[in-house]
Amino acid sequence: MCIFCKIVNKEIPNNTVAQNEDFLAFNDLHPKAPIHILIIPKAHVDCFQDVSAETMAGLTTFAQEVASKVGVDKSGYRLITNNGEDGGQEVNHLHFHMLGGGKIAWDHSHEDNHKSI
Ligand code: AMP
Repeated sequence: MCIFCKIVNKEIPNNTVAQNEDFLAFNDLHPKAPIHILIIPKAHVDCFQDVSAETMAGLTTFAQEVASKVGVDKSGYRLITNNGEDGGQEVNHLHFHMLGGGKIAWDHSHEDNHKSI
């Protein structure tokens, strides 16, 4: 079972921000912004490339509710998902990072930004 499934099953503790039947939002263990929340579907999906449009529809509404709950709906936030090896995905359970609480730097982070990929 993957680490985020263990969090969903309460085998690993987490700092829950919000949840409903299908989705869970919890604080990232190593925050990269004043607000850094992970938003996941409770049912395991490896990555964005594999997720259904139906799940994404529910996740969209849930993410908007999370943003309102933590007070970044008006100030703004970044919502990103790392997909697969080149995208830098480390945990293979779909998750969106919600980053906010201040201006978020933009770093394209390609190893060689000057070559076309
Ligand atoms: P990614 O690199 O997109 O796969 O992001 C994985 C994220 O999961 C990282 O930001 C980690 O800090 C975070 N993370 C890993 N384990 C835990 C955990 N047990 N609780 C909260 N966040 C975690």
